[in-house]
Amino acid sequence: MRTEVEKIVGAAAVDERPVRDLWPATTMAERAGQTPDRVLVVRPSGREQVAAILRWATANAVMVTPMGGASGVCGALAPKRGELVLDMGGLDRILEIDEVNLTCRVESGVNGMTLEKMLNEKGLTLGHYPSSLPGTTIGGLVSTRSSGQESSRYGSIEDMVLSLAVVLPDGTFAAPRPGPRSAVGPALHELWVGAEGALGVVLGAVLRVHRLPASVIGRGYSFSRLADGLEAMRHVMQAGIRPLVMRLYDHEDSVFNRYDVSDGECVLVIATVGEEEVAQAEANV
Ligand SMILES: Cc1cc2nc3c(=O)[nH]c(=O)nc-3n(C[C@H](O)[C@H](O)[C@H](O)COP(=O)(O)OP(=O)(O)OC[C@H]3O[C@@H](n4cnc5c(N)ncnc54)[C@H](O)[C@@H]3O)c2cc1C
Repeated sequence: MRTEVEKIVGAAAVDERPVRDLWPATTMAERAGQTPDRVLVVRPSGREQVAAILRWATANAVMVTPMGGASGVCGALAPKRGELVLDMGGLDRILEIDEVNLTCRVESGVNGMTLEKMLNEKGLTLGHYPSSLPGTTIGGLVSTRSSGQESSRYGSIEDMVLSLAVVLPDGTFAAPRPGPRSAVGPALHELWVGAEGALGVVLGAVLRVHRLPASVIGRGYSFSRLADGLEAMRHVMQAGIRPLVMRLYDHEDSVFNRYDVSDGECVLVIATVGEEEVAQAEANV
């Protein structure tokens, strides 16, 4: 098998090692001495190599798992001996940042934080901040239908994806054309948002980006009951306010995060953003 895949990607792009994500059960099993199986890890450098690997794997009934940053916590990356892992880290180019139409076009192996920093330098943001961002790739974020800490303002990854380029298991390439919107049926790329690699390999994405807000106002509120904090959050969202961040910590988490709380109190953190007057007005509501 190794010889066959080396013919496609070259010997330097094939490795053999244990692979796992950060699923707590596997982490604990490893601590108890159970090392995951060693598997072949292939690092393609372009679309043709991905397609050729998938064609070969389909013809030979070899299971393939695409891998991004391996920061998943659900055990999706748990390949067994004889299977193949497709390390997408070799496709890591940021191809275009369109500062007029506020979109970017990236390959799937681009690191989430690298993209965010690049956007920030141009006064932009993806607005997608799962706390694991530095350990993720765009392909992984898309394939897990991830949601971040700024979702109350910008939505989750499905609200950012305008188009995807994918390779299907038979090696066929598909890239629905991005456009403002379509009046013709559902957007096909949505099939792959949350597909966890089961419907093919995501090669790249066109994503919606945003201008960095002019000002950010952060405030903290304490509640004696968690339910009251939840009710306050519901009220904020239903009033049409879209805070950048809105996080409710139960008492234990509030203490863990070193908030100054009395017995049993919970903390709600809210950040409003926008032009200064708007952010201030929303903070005052
Ligand atoms: C400390 C911590 C905090 C976290 N916080 C959050 C959070 O706030 N929100 C959240 O949503 N998640 C969170 N996660 C989970 C994880 O970071 C996300 O699921 C992330 O989207 C995974 O991205 P990845 O690149 O690491 O993907 P991986 O873990 O490598 O892969 C995840 C899945 O996507 C598939 N996949 C990866 N790349 C591709 C590709 N190119 N094409 C097709 N399939 C692919 C894999 O096969 C696998 O099924 C957290 C994890 C940790 C460890």
